[in-house]
Amino acid sequence: MAENLQADGYPDPFVVRDSGFKGMGCFASRDIKAGERVLVERCALWEVDHSDVYDRTNSLLESYLQLSETDKAKIRDLHSETNPVVRFRNQAAFEHSGHLITAAQLDECVTVRLVHAANCFEIESSKTAPDGTRTPSRTGVFIKASRFNHSCDPNCWYTTTSWTGHFICTPMRPIKEGEEITISYIPNQATREKRQAQLLRCWGFICQCNRCEGWDTDYDVHLEEAYKALNPNADEERILPRFIQGGREAEEHRILRRLELLQALLWPPELYFGYLDAAEFFVQLKNENKRTDLEQSIVYSERAEGYLDNAVRVGEEIWEPGEIIWQDCMDYAEKVKAGTIEMKATLDAFNASQS
Ligand SMILES: [Zn+2]
Repeated sequence: MAENLQADGYPDPFVVRDSGFKGMGCFASRDIKAGERVLVERCALWEVDHSDVYDRTNSLLESYLQLSETDKAKIRDLHSETNPVVRFRNQAAFEHSGHLITAAQLDECVTVRLVHAANCFEIESSKTAPDGTRTPSRTGVFIKASRFNHSCDPNCWYTTTSWTGHFICTPMRPIKEGEEITISYIPNQATREKRQAQLLRCWGFICQCNRCEGWDTDYDVHLEEAYKALNPNADEERILPRFIQGGREAEEHRILRRLELLQALLWPPELYFGYLDAAEFFVQLKNENKRTDLEQSIVYSERAEGYLDNAVRVGEEIWEPGEIIWQDCMDYAEKVKAGTIEMKATLDAFNASQS
């Protein structure tokens, strides 16, 4: 299998190269349309999230030992923590795991563990059977997908849990040849402070993406220009208000303005992701308010439901039945609706207890 081909022979629409201070990154090798495929990749290395550290480590080791020598080398070549203190701390899990390993093997095992820690995605959620038995979650490493860098305003959407063991990456907007392909490692509708704190804590970097540094105007300008071309006599100030800087208000403004333009332009895959972004924003607000203002939280949840219903409807026009990306949206819509029902029940119970 050639390096630049995916499992079914689809050529990667990107190349891996140095991305400056972020290390390696993936750059589009041609123009890519919204909704096209960027990557479908099988998980190479995984760990079962057993509560016992030795069981966890052994599951990772077993998965690693099944790999070809070429793939083992590719795994070891991925980014990982190099701090000697962290490496030393990670030796213990192997030294006491019951496996007899040489010093060289120990070093290799520690690298694999740290590569997993730095690059893993959840590939299977934990499940609890009706009898209470819990199947632990699994986290895995994808060799190609691990090269995708983070942005809080990414150009690609991905899923790793809808089709177990696969990373499926789809562009949310057109990507120009030479542009970096980005995904979001975190729930990207959190506030800037929360996003920065989580990225620093979990991945050890200070995010300098366009959104954190200011705004990613390229995509917005692209939408504005397309809108103006379609409506040459539109009132500019009303249709294209300038960005408000900072805070929640600015985030909401950005998301809803993009959505407004996409609704006018009727570009299906981009409109679909516009609805998803808006839904995600209101789910985030719902979560932030759940403890302090349940009533307001329900309002946010219902707004998210509305946007998800629209995404499901647009998705129906774009994708075939059973298409993961659309299925994922339907599952998400169901989950949000179940959450709203639960919050309403809690609120009713609280109100009844007060009267
Ligand atoms: Zn950022």
